[in-house]
Amino acid sequence: MTAFSLGPLLYEGKAKRVFATATPELLAVEFKDDATAFNAEKKASLAGKGACNCRISALIFTWLQARGVPTHYLGVSGERWMLVRSVQVVPIEVVVRNLAAGSLCRQLPIALGTRLDPPLIDLYYKDDAYGDPLLNEARLEWLALLSAEQRGQVAELALAVNRGLRELFDAVDLELVDFKIELGFAADGQLLLADEISPDTCRLWDRRVGDCDARILDKDRFRQDLGGVVEAYGEVLKRVQGVCPEAQVYG
Ligand code: 5GP
Repeated sequence: MTAFSLGPLLYEGKAKRVFATATPELLAVEFKDDATAFNAEKKASLAGKGACNCRISALIFTWLQARGVPTHYLGVSGERWMLVRSVQVVPIEVVVRNLAAGSLCRQLPIALGTRLDPPLIDLYYKDDAYGDPLLNEARLEWLALLSAEQRGQVAELALAVNRGLRELFDAVDLELVDFKIELGFAADGQLLLADEISPDTCRLWDRRVGDCDARILDKDRFRQDLGGVVEAYGEVLKRVQGVCPEAQVYG
């Protein structure tokens, strides 16, 4: 951690801390070992998770950038630090679903694993106090978080991320069931992919395994008390490392 000078803590989330640095527009993100689920009702510390997610996210951001997806990623530093561009965060969680799972199957009569083609894009208002509710067009308009043009940009970016991720995970025998991304506007107005992309934020099923529990290589292992969480994340990292170029080191 020598390539940048750490400034004050700006924000502490469930899995990351965000710090200012001596350079304006440059933020340092520390990936924590903390795991939470069900709006932080379930908590644990999982040794090695932070480092694993930092590395996976760095490789994925680099992969996506090479495919024309603009991201906030600038490089890694040490095992669990990532340097990113500061953005005006859009308080919306964008979920892209290729197969039905999770809340979709709990809320609608759609069987687990049903293929969604074209993929379903769900937007949620990011605020734990309200339980991250699902948005619709009218609610989005009421909240005035995005213009109609920006809503189009969000959908386009989400689908570009989905295409890039599916190319990557297909190559390593992982089924990308669904994922959540967060977006932000850079100072020049460009919409960037922000936050992280890791097994904390994606559902990934191992195509080499038939068993419905054993195939899970993502945070559902934690949510469903299946054990082997960090080992599963390590397997994702190993496979992704096999096809991605080295993550760029900052500085
Ligand atoms: P679901 O709608 O089933 O809760 O989640 C769909 C996908 O988005 C899953 O891959 C899940 O991990 C991810 N996701 C949705 N909301 C959150 C969130 O608040 N935090 C994290 N880490 N992932 C989320």
